[in-house]
Amino acid sequence: MKVEIIKCLQDNYTYLIINEKNNYACIVDPGEAEPVIDFIKKKNIKLKFILNTHHHYDHIGGNNDLKKKYKAKIVGFKDDKHRIPNMDILVENNQIWKGENFEAKIIHIPGHTTGHICFYFSKEKMIFTGDTLFSLGCGRIFEGTYKQMYNSLNKLKTLPLSTKIYCGHEYTLNNSMFCLKHDKNNKNLGKKVLEINDKLKKNLPTIPSTIDEELACNIFLRAKNLEDFSKLRDLKDNF
Ligand code: ZN
Ligand code: FE
Repeated sequence: MKVEIIKCLQDNYTYLIINEKNNYACIVDPGEAEPVIDFIKKKNIKLKFILNTHHHYDHIGGNNDLKKKYKAKIVGFKDDKHRIPNMDILVENNQIWKGENFEAKIIHIPGHTTGHICFYFSKEKMIFTGDTLFSLGCGRIFEGTYKQMYNSLNKLKTLPLSTKIYCGHEYTLNNSMFCLKHDKNNKNLGKKVLEINDKLKKNLPTIPSTIDEELACNIFLRAKNLEDFSKLRDLKDNF
């Protein structure tokens, strides 16, 4: 399995997971169809599934065009059936979803939205976290509670350390400034920020990160308790 990172909209990432044996692929959170179509055309890829982490338009905007063009099936959380149009496959918490040779565990991680899920490919040790866990940050709490978001992040903390994290946006630079402001003496963070700046200078994505790196550097994962976490989330909202 190979993951290709495709930029779309302002600062969204959509991810193409390709089985190199047959060129079958899944696309995660296509905010728009065009950049995905361009990529697929060039590489002769057969799109089979569209995986959505949540219903926000910048994550599903390309769904319908891709579904129509490639007859790909849309996979999403069952409780979001009313707001992710034309879903084909409804999944639920802790389910192992299988399609062709793809296999991912569905983990319900509410907070950003009530129906937010992530796709954990345990064999490949990679996870698609949408707008819940970002590199050096976490998503805004739009529909859920602080407690839900805190619990959701705690679930992700238990994944194997080497798990690669593919998140929904390139927010890492701004996130790094917030982390630096409130966690000045963190040497691991200092090191990661240098790497981030280096990548951005070369116009490369800062994604994927890993659970290991995020545990060491992401201030939201380092919060000691719910109260701490909530304070940080409020500060970040006004940062
Ligand atoms: Zn969102
Ligand atoms: Fe988003």
